Amino acid sequence: MISQASVVIIGGGIIGTAIAFNLAKLGVKDVSVFEKSYISSGSTGRCGGGIRQQWTSPMNVRLAMRSVKLFERFKLDVGMDIEYYQGGYLLLAYTEKEVEDFSENVKMQRGEGLDVVLLTKRQIAQKFPFMNLEGVKGGTWCPTDAHANPQIANIAYAMAIKQMGVDLNTYTTVEGIDTQGGKIVGVQTNKGYVKTNIVINAAGGFSHEVGLMAGVDIPTYSERHQILVTESINHVLDPMVISFRNNYYVRQTMHGSFVMGQSDKKPAKGNDLGHTIEFLEEMAPKMVHDFPFMNHLHIVRQWSGAYDLSPDAQPIIDESRSVSRYIFAVGFSGHGFMLAPAVGEAVAEMVVYGRSKTTDISNLGMSRFASKIEKEHNVV
Ligand SMILES: Cc1cc2nc3c(=O)[nH]c(=O)nc-3n(C[C@H](O)[C@H](O)[C@H](O)COP(=O)(O)OP(=O)(O)OC[C@H]3O[C@@H](n4cnc5c(N)ncnc54)[C@H](O)[C@@H]3O)c2cc1C
Repeated sequence: MISQASVVIIGGGIIGTAIAFNLAKLGVKDVSVFEKSYISSGSTGRCGGGIRQQWTSPMNVRLAMRSVKLFERFKLDVGMDIEYYQGGYLLLAYTEKEVEDFSENVKMQRGEGLDVVLLTKRQIAQKFPFMNLEGVKGGTWCPTDAHANPQIANIAYAMAIKQMGVDLNTYTTVEGIDTQGGKIVGVQTNKGYVKTNIVINAAGGFSHEVGLMAGVDIPTYSERHQILVTESINHVLDPMVISFRNNYYVRQTMHGSFVMGQSDKKPAKGNDLGHTIEFLEEMAPKMVHDFPFMNHLHIVRQWSGAYDLSPDAQPIIDESRSVSRYIFAVGFSGHGFMLAPAVGEAVAEMVVYGRSKTTDISNLGMSRFASKIEKEHNVV
């Protein structure tokens, strides 16, 4: 651990390590990253690994599209195979209203340059004959959506930043942020003090608490989401499939198992990482109904992680108005893995150039909460 750093990053998840990677690429290497546990111990190592560009808010579409460009080059840029698979995403619609809404989304997404189309039920059946499409009216299909192994991606960034000279400290908890006259002067950890003038809050489910360490009240809160993995079978399912009505997402990993999750009816607030039998009782029948071949699949493991939620289900990426150079990249609301490469790039540019140059993230600041917010709807 170094005693003075240009930048301190709190959180060694995919967001913190992606930011450090991009800072190092821009030549800022005296960066300290503090992770209170092991790399990928947070939401990143617990997530579904989906990488989707089909969002209802243009900002999410833009960030996700930039991320996909960077995921496509990840192995080359970051140096590790992260099981990246561009198998597309299929979103299912069940009512005329949902088809109408999807059609509006497709219009907006195509306007942003995304290759996405509306499919009829017949077209879906032709593409995915093994699915039970009872009740389905249509869907949307984006062939460049993808999935990857989030744990490996997090570890890849961590290994890369270490090689680039970043001071990465695992099992080191940030306990306080020191400020004087609205400026940051240092950070207290359980292993010592580091002087710094720039702090980045990338603390995932703990973003609110870490905000308060500098007296900044970030409107995020944490909610538990459960997920499971089955035994593996031969490859059958290319895309991630999402049903908002039936409240699920599912994908098949590169080694054949299925990863799937839903939102609980009454999600537990906070960072409790327990799990329930109700989750299994709800997930299993609906998956077997829509994917009848899963009938005899064994569930291997069930776990949970935190969604760090913002009021409009879009990330909050901003610099505090009250504490100068206190930057936060938080509130990813269940889709931070897929946005991480673009967010890492954008935040590193904020630090170095004072603003994000590659992707316009000006709408993702705290000031948006002062007026009527537009909620991102495509969330499970
Ligand atoms: C079940 C589930 C499924 C999901 N599926 C997807 C998906 O398919 N696609 C997708 O894009 N996203 C998905 N997500 C969301 C995704 O996991 C998160 O948005 C993303 O991982 C956020 O990354 P992060 O680095 O901000 O947070 P984290 O990975 O949680 O990292 C934050 C880190 O900060 C550390 N920390 C906190 N406080 C301190 C402190 N005081 N000192 C030091 N360290 C600290 C924590 O230990 C943690 O490791 C899912 C999430 C869950 C729970």
